[in-house]
Amino acid sequence: MEDNVNKIWKHRYKVGGTIAVFIVALFFFFGLHTNEVYAVSFNDEAIAFVTQKEAIEDALQTLKEKKSTKLGQAVEIKKNYEIQKQKSSSPVTSKEDLLKILDEEVNFITRGAAVKIDGEEKFYFKNDELADSFINKLKDKYSINSNGEVNIIQDVKIINEEVKVKSINSVKEALQLVVKGEAKQKIHVVEKNDTLWGIARNHNTTVEKIKELNPELSDILQLGAKVVISSTEPLLNVQCTYEINNEETIPFKTKYKMDSNLAVGKRQVIQQGKQGKKKVTYQVMAENGDVVGKESINEVVLQPAKPRIINKGTKLMFSSRSGGLIWPVTGPISSGFGMRWGKMHSGIDIAAQYGKSVCATAPGEVTRVEWLSGYGRLIEVNHGNGIRTRYAHLSAFGVNIGQKISQGQFLGKVGETGHATGPHLHFEIRINGVAKNPLNYL
Ligand SMILES: [Zn+2]
Repeated sequence: MEDNVNKIWKHRYKVGGTIAVFIVALFFFFGLHTNEVYAVSFNDEAIAFVTQKEAIEDALQTLKEKKSTKLGQAVEIKKNYEIQKQKSSSPVTSKEDLLKILDEEVNFITRGAAVKIDGEEKFYFKNDELADSFINKLKDKYSINSNGEVNIIQDVKIINEEVKVKSINSVKEALQLVVKGEAKQKIHVVEKNDTLWGIARNHNTTVEKIKELNPELSDILQLGAKVVISSTEPLLNVQCTYEINNEETIPFKTKYKMDSNLAVGKRQVIQQGKQGKKKVTYQVMAENGDVVGKESINEVVLQPAKPRIINKGTKLMFSSRSGGLIWPVTGPISSGFGMRWGKMHSGIDIAAQYGKSVCATAPGEVTRVEWLSGYGRLIEVNHGNGIRTRYAHLSAFGVNIGQKISQGQFLGKVGETGHATGPHLHFEIRINGVAKNPLNYL
């Protein structure tokens, strides 16, 4: 009996113990997962949870001191976070993670200097001395001539203000960023008649640079192909303008002189030309170290060029021994050479009796024996050296084409064929195809 009672009690004790353990377990479960914590939120998003509010203050203080020491000047916090007491089921943030999160998210500021380029803040330094140093080093870097005048094209301003500690650049970093520039890809689509050289010139770049940016590009441009002109645009353009002096040659000129002792068509160099020397002053303009323009601003002749002088022959030379011309027929000149009734008279008219003999003015070869509009019956003789004579309005021919003739040889008879108002000989001298006044040579 006693045993049974004991058994019942033992059983009750067991059930009770189990319930108690269960309750404790429940308590621990909910207790762990709905702790009262301090949540740190940025932009309404809670990202760190601690049980002690002081942990946050301590972490911020640690970070502030670390940053101040590193920077060598006071660092402040511009509050951009909220701390709220709340029940949360999120796990508590470790001390290490809390430091990382706050370092990343909290706005640490210091009195520094911003460099504004065309009104936009681009670089931050911990003081204006460093900002100045950055600008001066940049100018030095692209001052490619010691006598050059260096200017930055953009409007650059240094402003003392509160700057974010994490935006602060070292001078070295800032210089690298300027060169790297901003990623602004400029593309040129190949149009008809485009050449690499032309594209380079229009975009102020060089064929070498385009080839460097477009290693796949073939020399024959495909219509519509995309050519990368520049992958980055420098943040600042430093212009360096300077003067250089070059010694250059002056090319010589060629002068012609008429020489009546030299045969028509002949040329004789009577003075060899010699190049001269000059000092040319150029103004050169470079941008970020690349020469973009060169302009001649002054020239001083050191040694003038000597012209080449060539004599041009004007003398009519015939292959006869005497050299002179004889009249093809004797008679008065009824019409001279030159303009006549508004038209060019390309020879002289010698009045002569119908049927009178016409003879060769100089030796040569007969090149025409034919009827020619206006001329009537015409004989043409080639005397060599570009000289030909014509005998027109003939009533009869006395030679054949291709026949070699001597001076004074009978050619044909005076007539009035073609446009002629009476019997006469129309006589022409043509030098290299151009009619000349026969009276100048007879
Ligand atoms: Zn005539």
